[in-house]
Amino acid sequence: MHEDTKRQVRSLAGERIKVLLELAKSYGDPYSDFATGYVKLARKISSHYKISIGNRTPYCKSCNCVLIPGKNASVRVASSKKFVVYKCERCGAEVHVSYKKKSRDAA
Ligand SMILES: [Zn+2]
Repeated sequence: MHEDTKRQVRSLAGERIKVLLELAKSYGDPYSDFATGYVKLARKISSHYKISIGNRTPYCKSCNCVLIPGKNASVRVASSKKFVVYKCERCGAEVHVSYKKKSRDAA
């Protein structure tokens, strides 16, 4: 009954998050108000709909910036633990992103 609608709304929300993060990524300076604004909005949507965004695009939780390897983030692979560690260049926060096989965007 309600489940279908809920699922639709959530997948729409997922799309919006994707777009917002793409916008944040394409913006020149990830620490600018514009880019962090996009991430903040994406986080708001994600917490509201309980959709995880960390595995799609890593972001710094304290700076609200997308983490782009080679630009504002250093990356190392913890191969034994099957995750990638992104480190924010501004505040040094680390984000762990699992690189296990993607489950089909079920979120
Ligand atoms: Zn940071």
